[in-house]
Amino acid sequence: MSPCSVLKPDLPRLGRLSYTTANKIIKGGNPSMIPMSLPSSKKQQVMPDLYPLRFKPIYKQYVWGGWKLATLLKRPIPHDEIFAESWELCDHGQDQSVVDGGPLSGATLHELVEKYGRRLLGNAGDRFPLLLKYLDATQDLSVQVHPDDAMAAGLDPPDLGKTEAWYIVAAVPGSVIYAGLRQGVDRETLALAIKRGKCEECLHYFEARQGDCVFIPAGTVHALGAGTLVAEIQQSSDTTFRLFDWNRLGTDGRPRELHVEQGLDAIDFARGPVSPIRHPVSCQDESVGLVRSKQFSLERHLLLGPKDLGGDGRFHILTVVDGSVSIEGEHSDKNLNCGQTVLLPAEIAAVRCVPCPDAVVLDAFVEAEPQPRAAVPQM
Ligand SMILES: [Zn+2]
Repeated sequence: MSPCSVLKPDLPRLGRLSYTTANKIIKGGNPSMIPMSLPSSKKQQVMPDLYPLRFKPIYKQYVWGGWKLATLLKRPIPHDEIFAESWELCDHGQDQSVVDGGPLSGATLHELVEKYGRRLLGNAGDRFPLLLKYLDATQDLSVQVHPDDAMAAGLDPPDLGKTEAWYIVAAVPGSVIYAGLRQGVDRETLALAIKRGKCEECLHYFEARQGDCVFIPAGTVHALGAGTLVAEIQQSSDTTFRLFDWNRLGTDGRPRELHVEQGLDAIDFARGPVSPIRHPVSCQDESVGLVRSKQFSLERHLLLGPKDLGGDGRFHILTVVDGSVSIEGEHSDKNLNCGQTVLLPAEIAAVRCVPCPDAVVLDAFVEAEPQPRAAVPQM
């Protein structure tokens, strides 16, 4: 299947548009459609049952973005402006996903976590731990590294570490992914290369292909190459150390800030080169595990017929990376198209996903911690 081969364009919904420019939130259109909190009178009422939840995307405009969110993913955003990221699902500070559809419309993800707790999250902790976004890179992103949980906890303000994974939704021929350091590169070698403006000499890279998955644990040096459209699942964190910016100047004509010393401290120099996880798409219904880590697991479901997903006591983030599906029990009569996302709360039963006519769906979740066991009676 080609990327988004069976997309059905949405009607323009500019009244719901909400995007950010350099951290400033811009909300457009009909004020009644602007995301808002649950009215306080509603808070006193009986909580509605949970159901498969869709959220309004939060758009970010950065200079390295492009037009693929509008053209390939058919997002109702201005076609004459550059958009870099669409945050699909997030509960991180000011960045709050807002429910779009059903009795919980207008509630933020943070409000849902506070009110529903384990009914939403299962045993995955007491805050929403993951963030899902789509990125459209028309330029190479800076070479960067993220800290692990221990290092991020010591930052001001403290944050989670950032382990992430990319799924390549589309890639132009010749586009590359930088992931990991070449064999044998140590701190001294990398520091010298950065100083000389030759960081790329230390980086491992490979050509990006549609369907590749790349796992980037915290401490891994990486950069997304120009010409890629990716779905990124990550820990809910915003801590990035920029090591190298390809000797470019920012929009103000000056080099962007680097965080070389902190970055060098964050790097796991034992990690070495990172290879893509490649499972060719077959011609039959198939589910494959792409990533299994402490922070999250990621599976890919190729659907040629209906399949039940979720219903195992964990929350599941489903996002369609090719084709289109309908989700039973949703408060939306529209299909979930390529690039669209739904959250299945932990307490709901499995939902039937019906591809139309076929689809590739990513499924991100956190392996639930074991339930505490009853004490074994002493004999
Ligand atoms: Zn990153």
